[in-house]
Amino acid sequence: MTRCFIGLGSNLNDPAKQIRAALAALSAHADIALTHSSSLYRNPAIGPGEQPDYLNAVAEVTTALKPLALLHALQAIETHQGRIRTIHWGARTLDLDLLLFGDETLATAELIVPHPHMTARNFVLYPLFEIAPELVLPDGTSLRALLDCCPDIGLQRL
Ligand code: AMP
Repeated sequence: MTRCFIGLGSNLNDPAKQIRAALAALSAHADIALTHSSSLYRNPAIGPGEQPDYLNAVAEVTTALKPLALLHALQAIETHQGRIRTIHWGARTLDLDLLLFGDETLATAELIVPHPHMTARNFVLYPLFEIAPELVLPDGTSLRALLDCCPDIGLQRL
C-alpha cells in the first residue's frame, strides 16, 4: 500500500458540496482508502477574468493502485462531478491533483509527481501541513521548510 496525498479544489456549483462529494467518492472507491482529510480553505481564484473564490482541501489516501491508475481514478471522479474543461485555469466544478505518491518521483507526459506546482501554493501546503506536519518530500525538503517560504496570505481556514 502506498500513502498518497490528493489536492482538491472547486469554485463552481457549491464548492463545499463538490469537495465533500469527491471525498465520499474517494472513500467509496474499492481500491482507495481515505485516511485523513483537511479542513476546507477559502482562497481567491487565480487565472483569467472574474471568478468565484476557490475552496481547497487535501486528503491522505492509501492504495495498492499504480500511480497512473490512481490518476485515472481521480479523473473519473472529476468527470462524474461534471468538470468541463473550457479555458485553461478557468473556473471548474472539481479539480483533483495527485500531489504525492509515496516517495516516488515521476515525470511522464501524463503524470508528474510530486505535483509540479504544489511547493509554491499556499492552498496546498497549509491543508497538507494540517494532516501531515511531519511530511518530507522525495527530494528531502520538509513540508515545514516549504511553509516558511510560503505565507498564508489570502487563505482562510473554514
Ligand atoms: P489540470 O487541468 O490542471 O487539472 O491538469 C490536468 C492534466 O495534468 C492532465 O492531463 C494530467 O495528465 C496532467 N497531470 C500531470 N501531473 C499531474 C498530477 N500530479 N496530478 C493531476 N494531473 C496531472
